[in-house]
Amino acid sequence: MPRITDVTCVLVSERLPAEWAAAHGVSSKRDEALVFITTEDGRVGVGESYHAFSPGTIPGIVEGHIREILVGRDSSEIQLLWEEVFFSTGQLGSAAVAAMSGVDIALWDLLGRRTGLPVATLLGGGGVDLVPAYVGCMCLGFQDAASLREEVKLYLSQGYTAMKLRGGKDLEADVEAVATAREVAGPHVDLMIDANSAYSPPESLQLAKRLERYGTFWLEDPFDFSVKYHHADMGWLRKASPVPICSGGNVYTRFDVRALIDAGGVDYLTPDVCKCGGLSEAMRIAALASAHNIIVAPHTVVGIGTVAGVHYTAAIPTHVRGHMEWDASVVNPLRDEMCRPALSIVDGCIAVPTGPGLGVEVPSAAMLERFSFIPGREISMPPRRRRWDPALRNPARQVRREPVTTAVK
Ligand SMILES: [Mg+2]
Repeated sequence: MPRITDVTCVLVSERLPAEWAAAHGVSSKRDEALVFITTEDGRVGVGESYHAFSPGTIPGIVEGHIREILVGRDSSEIQLLWEEVFFSTGQLGSAAVAAMSGVDIALWDLLGRRTGLPVATLLGGGGVDLVPAYVGCMCLGFQDAASLREEVKLYLSQGYTAMKLRGGKDLEADVEAVATAREVAGPHVDLMIDANSAYSPPESLQLAKRLERYGTFWLEDPFDFSVKYHHADMGWLRKASPVPICSGGNVYTRFDVRALIDAGGVDYLTPDVCKCGGLSEAMRIAALASAHNIIVAPHTVVGIGTVAGVHYTAAIPTHVRGHMEWDASVVNPLRDEMCRPALSIVDGCIAVPTGPGLGVEVPSAAMLERFSFIPGREISMPPRRRRWDPALRNPARQVRREPVTTAVK
């Protein structure tokens, strides 16, 4: 197979049409770290690495350490290269795993382009043409009851049968939002809520108990954004909670997932192919989850990563294949305009692309220019405070939750 001649990483951004607020801060843009791998026959594969709110970190690892390993190597050595990168970057932690994720996706894309097969087929997902989707990402954010009703109605009219609210505002507001959405959606819609790490473990249990009566499908990440340091707490919550617990959007590799499962911490697992170690590692995570009968509901956000996530979802063992997260109504040009042909929705499900590789064109130089990187962090992420914190009682002392617009070196 052709040898690798170059590995590059390009940051791109899009402005949001309006600021988006959730429990972990405010965003005015969306970022994406694209990885490109070129081989000696002139082919290019593309992948996405999670940017980890730290622009500059991922390109540094991809174009430094990883490029050194990959250039000159056979592009079909996906497993060997994964291990070589992983076991030589342990000291770099999850940033290196995120960097490797985009590299791994690009290698699978290259293999697909060369063989003429979709990545889903290469992963064993042939015969699956639709994957179930739930309305998530930047949909159903904090808002008043009237507009929440309208948004839920919109998704019902579009054929969606699963949707996720943004929670973490406060316990009363979260319960009210779920009650409103349930009233509008009726009993047969899968209704989730993501608290984006806003609560302490005891508050999380209080919330779970109050959500039971609304048939809540799952309660996601009620505490700590990075579940790594809270495996045991998640296990405690899952045992005590009357509603299913969802986590794993921030797991890096099967080893994180093993620790989470060992602690008894999850009913629904949400790996993201852009951060968990790429498609190769996501498949190993699906195997691990399937052995524990844990449903895998892939997390996605932006463009190439979402496309890769669809291929992944198609290849997850059927008995644990859950819904994939989908940004249903929000303007998302990094996905819908940069990834051509655009993904399509059929009856509330995502159609699996059928072209070679990821099934989308490699973004052109003009496209990268059009979405050139906007400096600064993507989300403000202020210090996490409990609701009894004096700083929150006195507005004058509050940390301002405004978008970050200054450049991050
Ligand atoms: Mg989440």
